Amino acid sequence: MKILVINAGSSSLKYQIIDMKGEKLLCKGIVERIGFPGSMLEHKIRDEKYKITQKMDNHTDALNFMLNILTSKEYGVIKDVNEIEAVGHRVLMSGEDFDSSVVIDDNVIKVCRKNSIYGPLHMPAQTDCIEACGQIMPDIPMVAVFDNTFHSTMPPKAFMYAIPYEDYQNYKLRKYGFHGTSHKYVSQKAIKYLGKENSRMITCHLGNGSSLAAVVNGKCIDTSMGLTPLEGLIMGTRSGDIDPMVLDLLVKHKGMSLDEALDSLNKKSGFLGICGVNDFRDVVHLAEGGNKRAALCLDMFQYRIKKYIGSYYAIMGGLDAIVFTGGIGENSAIGRKVIMEGLEHLGIDFDFEANNQLKKGKFAELHKPSSKVKVLVIPTNEELVIARDTQELVKNK
Ligand code: AMP
Repeated sequence: MKILVINAGSSSLKYQIIDMKGEKLLCKGIVERIGFPGSMLEHKIRDEKYKITQKMDNHTDALNFMLNILTSKEYGVIKDVNEIEAVGHRVLMSGEDFDSSVVIDDNVIKVCRKNSIYGPLHMPAQTDCIEACGQIMPDIPMVAVFDNTFHSTMPPKAFMYAIPYEDYQNYKLRKYGFHGTSHKYVSQKAIKYLGKENSRMITCHLGNGSSLAAVVNGKCIDTSMGLTPLEGLIMGTRSGDIDPMVLDLLVKHKGMSLDEALDSLNKKSGFLGICGVNDFRDVVHLAEGGNKRAALCLDMFQYRIKKYIGSYYAIMGGLDAIVFTGGIGENSAIGRKVIMEGLEHLGIDFDFEANNQLKKGKFAELHKPSSKVKVLVIPTNEELVIARDTQELVKNK
């Protein structure tokens, strides 16, 4: 079964075709600047990369162009669109309407539109993309795989906010969590590695956006992101946890509109706000060169993560494994080092030497043999989770 995986952003569209026989990646790519001058498609087959510019005004144009490329003689990997047996769409948010991936029908589209209030940047584009895809390929089944549903096993004491209960009832204001496909993928891999279903682990997805999840016996019991991806850790441009009264001061004293203040917390804070760069590599580079703000930023980054690790350790009553994944978690030895320093009291005997030696993006064990807690690096594969869920649901349809 060949599955097309689609991950749409507000002005971008990432895609992969995966042949589920052997879970083989046939090609991947990204359409960027949709609706803006200079829109283009970057397409990769094996190690060859192609960049093709093309005017694309909306996601329908982008999908049509992508399908032309996928079936073209020059760049194609399929002869005909009908070789695609199913399409898996990444969707930001299911609200409380679904607690797992679902086959898309009119009702699912309606629910996605309704839930756009929780993700006004991503959800409208993702829903447009689902509709456009349905129009272009009406006979091919589609599945929605949500970023939050892995966390739907959280108990109310973890997901409720202590705000008036009616606001939960009427608006479903609560913690949902994100990066679910990534936490699911790496936690399943870690369970296989540990060789037992009974396990307590903390999965650390650290990238431009970052989140931690406490996973017991394969089920999420808590996670650091909230109603939106703004809550939790300090990220590339997001503040993470903050006293909501900061907004009041930004609005009343700095003279910002509420939208501007929220934009500041989402896009101008985090690493960028503290030291002027949002890429972790640049933060490290500046800190190593003696930049005090960058050093502070690194310190804040590791401190916040340690606080979450400590609290998850406490609620799980112990820990079998910590798993690193995401751009920083997989690739940054210094990122992992600053987080693991000083956690010996939790039974973590981290192998700093092995950490230094680790080549980019590889599976690795970074604990010493004596360590009670295993420390693993597991490269994530969110698209594969989407393809697997899609195959499963379409097969059972
Ligand atoms: P992601 O959002 O998962 O793609 O991760 C992006 C983040 O990973 C950025 O902050 C990058 O600086 C960081 N990153 C990617 N590659 C490396 C690397 N080789 N070393 C350190 N950080 C990296």
